[in-house]
Amino acid sequence: MNVSKQADRSFMEELKRTDRPRYDRILRAALKETRRLKGTPARNCEHCGLRLPDDVRTDAKYCDTTCQRAARLARSEAKTLPIAA
Ligand SMILES: [Zn+2]
Repeated sequence: MNVSKQADRSFMEELKRTDRPRYDRILRAALKETRRLKGTPARNCEHCGLRLPDDVRTDAKYCDTTCQRAARLARSEAKTLPIAA
């Protein structure tokens, strides 16, 4: 992955067709390295507090759909529950 940008691109395109798991691994590693170099801080799930995986979307708030649903449920219950006096 360093002969030239064009060679890298050709290699990755071929890899994407022939060995998708390896392609995904390389892509994740490259993304992780890019974030490390840019100093993007690791983020945590807004529901359970676990660290979000490095390959989540930049606007992701939750680690998975289970936490997303649980957070939505918690919000709707908070709205309907009577306020304790
Ligand atoms: Zn979570």
